[in-house]
Amino acid sequence: MTKPSQRLETKLIHAGEPKPRIQGAVSMPIFQSANFEYANEADYHSLKYIRLNNTPNHLALHEKLSALENAEAALVTGSGMAAISTTLLTILSAGDHLLVQDCLYGGTHDFITRDLGAFGMAYTFINADDPASWKRQLQPNTRGIYVETMTNPLLQVPDLLAVVEFAKTNGLVSMVDNTFASPVNFRPADRGFDLSLHSCTKYLNGHSDIVAGAVIGRDELVRKVKYRLDHLGGSLDPHAAFLLHRGMKTLAVRVKFQNESALRLARFLEGHPAVARVNYPGLESHPRHGRARELFDGFGGVLSFELKGGVEEAQQFISNTTLTISAPSLGGVETLITRPVTTSHSGLSAEDRQRLGISDRLIRLSVGIEATDDLIQDFSRALGS
Ligand SMILES: *Cc1c(COP(=O)(O)O)cnc(C)c1O
Repeated sequence: MTKPSQRLETKLIHAGEPKPRIQGAVSMPIFQSANFEYANEADYHSLKYIRLNNTPNHLALHEKLSALENAEAALVTGSGMAAISTTLLTILSAGDHLLVQDCLYGGTHDFITRDLGAFGMAYTFINADDPASWKRQLQPNTRGIYVETMTNPLLQVPDLLAVVEFAKTNGLVSMVDNTFASPVNFRPADRGFDLSLHSCTKYLNGHSDIVAGAVIGRDELVRKVKYRLDHLGGSLDPHAAFLLHRGMKTLAVRVKFQNESALRLARFLEGHPAVARVNYPGLESHPRHGRARELFDGFGGVLSFELKGGVEEAQQFISNTTLTISAPSLGGVETLITRPVTTSHSGLSAEDRQRLGISDRLIRLSVGIEATDDLIQDFSRALGS
């Protein structure tokens, strides 16, 4: 058992590790076996089988992930979208309704707007920064409220404490996609959220080499999600589980460095004459900087900005930089740069993007672990030319 007094850095290394160590192995071995010898398990869901999410590699991750967020339970999944879709298909039944933040990760946005209806489920978008408006959107069949810790790509910080309060008052399940903050910067269970969802593809794994997801939170709900996941089949393969386990051990050193580096880059960009605007919750100019300081231990490694000029200037800057890789996704050790209109948010209509404030010239940066001074030098040169 993890002692509650242990700090996150220690839990990353020691929580969930097999005791005694398997054959003395310091690193958790990979159990690459689809099925396991029958051991008098009483029901189908307890049979050891990769799809049933209960091999030794799964169980070690479940314990480590729940310890990191001080939660009762955790479940790893085959991708972040498997965690999100399976959770929504567990919390909601046909005829139910969901309140959902209006600016979401593109895949989640598409799943909710294009797929939920086929299951007989309905949703209403809410302004997650305006709790007074939520009561009006509530319906007798509303079952859940769904938000993200920091939105992509504008880094808005919703009124997370009001979400928890509203859910408790109205008997809703509160869900937060905590991918952008990672457990280093925010632990939803500590603030009363029922479920925290992750794309472990991003910070938790941190090395841009697998897709994986997680559902972390109240035991009773995580059990229900596992039951549904067992049937839907979005389980994580043991080899990917091993890579995630290995990547997570350095989560704290990576994310703390990325917090600092992103803040320095945000300040540099904000002070540069060629830059029109920077979105980063760590900047005093961010409209919810005070809230972010109150809730988070760090402001994360993602920021977005607009240069003066248009799409052409943005594209020119991207090709002028030499240390960044132009690619979608985020949370790895490499600094990635992208225009959301061409990647993460290309699924949204032009009107939706405009309504949400995602301009065509907007650039998103996922800061890696290169030397910050080298990145600033590279950006300075790319902006000057
Ligand atoms: C990437 C991402 C997802 C989806 O995760 P996959 O692992 O790609 O399925 C969900 N939410 C957020 C915030 C993400 O960044």
